Amino acid sequence: MDPQNGNTVDRNYHIIVVGGGILGVTLSYWLSTIPSLKIALIEASDDVAKHSSSRNTGVIHRPFYMNPEKKKLFAWASQKSYLMWKGFAMRFNLPWNPVGTLEIAKREEDLGRLHNFSRWALQNGMESDEFMILDRSELNSKYPFLRGHGAILSRTDTSVDFGIFTRSIFKSIKNDNFTFIPNTSVNAKSIDVNKSSLLASNGRRKMRIGFNHLINAAGSDSLKIAHQMGLAHDKTMLHFRGDYWKVAGNKLPEIKNNIYTIPEHPEFPFLDPHFIVRHDNSRQIGPNAAPVFSPYAYEGFSERLLDPLRTLFEKPVLPKLKLFVNREFLSLAGSEWGSSLSRKKMGLRVKAFIPEFSIEMLNDKGIAGIRHSVIDSHGFLEDSIILKAPTSTHIINYNSPGATGAPAYAASIVNDMLDSGVLGERIYPQEKLSNIWKFEEVFP
Ligand SMILES: Cc1cc2nc3c(=O)[nH]c(=O)nc-3n(C[C@H](O)[C@H](O)[C@H](O)COP(=O)(O)OP(=O)(O)OC[C@H]3O[C@@H](n4cnc5c(N)ncnc54)[C@H](O)[C@@H]3O)c2cc1C
Repeated sequence: MDPQNGNTVDRNYHIIVVGGGILGVTLSYWLSTIPSLKIALIEASDDVAKHSSSRNTGVIHRPFYMNPEKKKLFAWASQKSYLMWKGFAMRFNLPWNPVGTLEIAKREEDLGRLHNFSRWALQNGMESDEFMILDRSELNSKYPFLRGHGAILSRTDTSVDFGIFTRSIFKSIKNDNFTFIPNTSVNAKSIDVNKSSLLASNGRRKMRIGFNHLINAAGSDSLKIAHQMGLAHDKTMLHFRGDYWKVAGNKLPEIKNNIYTIPEHPEFPFLDPHFIVRHDNSRQIGPNAAPVFSPYAYEGFSERLLDPLRTLFEKPVLPKLKLFVNREFLSLAGSEWGSSLSRKKMGLRVKAFIPEFSIEMLNDKGIAGIRHSVIDSHGFLEDSIILKAPTSTHIINYNSPGATGAPAYAASIVNDMLDSGVLGERIYPQEKLSNIWKFEEVFP
């Protein structure tokens, strides 16, 4: 019981949330509105939002491109969260830059997908005046600096800073029963399902933490934790780094929107880099998706020499083997690496849809981010997955538009837990603790 001597300290909570990204923090916010719960948020870094939740494109995506059948929860969460974020940004005076996104069909065969987008936009709850389809001649006359066969303009896509958003939500948690445990990493192998306890350590000090329920929002470690708790053994994870480059000064001032292209290979996580107008009106291009062998390889291939071997032979091996003998995957992965290493290659990918773009417009690199994609023997999973066990809930493959949908997505997890009795008797979250959003906004 003595932390000074390096002995184990014991603590007990009703709920522990592992991972202080935007998902873990929004979950903690909703849980903290239930006064009777003793909650801990355990985070490996010294603060919240140090990884994907700060290292991303920063776009509140409107759900025009989300198939409501295949991405049901994300489409719902993105739509629900939009006005929640807007109200939140206004109230706390946080950056909110409604630049809009123009998504271009680079190839004639992608035109049909634009029409799917307009159908999905309405099905997902967008208003008809929030978007418009442009045919080739409209695109050419309105945006003569772009090349494409047509496009959809989503007017309400908005650039924000999700790192600032996450830290602001975290600061507003008011419950005295909420504890933040930073600099502390949960060792997946130490989780004892039978005893509902785990070992967490910050290097010097070990803590044995007992819990009634664990919520796993650990991003890069989420699958390891799920495996340890007996779940998802058919799935494995690969990491893809997205690099960004800053566009110098006020080059291409005529471009006022984010410019995306319709992905040519939706079965893989490889997209064209986008032209992004950030929340502060600075401009960047990116991200690409270069495979890396460590979840924190923000530069280079991996952090440690043995990472590639460890990644390749981590079980299950079959889904990775299938991918690594797939020629198309290998060739695309190679070209993604090309654009990580070479500013010229990255620039040329953008020049394909912005002909005026020139490599000299790129000066410094921006902040890279890493997405943690889950695969099984059928390939990449399209959607996030929520896995439920008697004493734990796990969110894996929580990739884009995860930051956009976080407030409603987290509320829906807490709502399910209330419904299933995991949080005790169903009591409605307490008004005075719901100081940003109210539960009734999401579940009227
Ligand atoms: C390049 C890129 C661009 C993107 N662009 C967009 C965008 O424009 N719009 C959008 O909506 N989404 C975007 N996304 C997706 C979005 O950023 C993510 O969906 C979201 O940030 C995920 O949040 P998270 O909380 O799950 O993960 P994270 O932010 O990664 O948080 C997980 C936390 O868990 C901690 N952790 C991990 N293991 C342990 C452990 N063992 N013990 C304790 N703590 C642990 C980590 O330190 C980390 O803080 C993008 C993602 C990337 C990578």
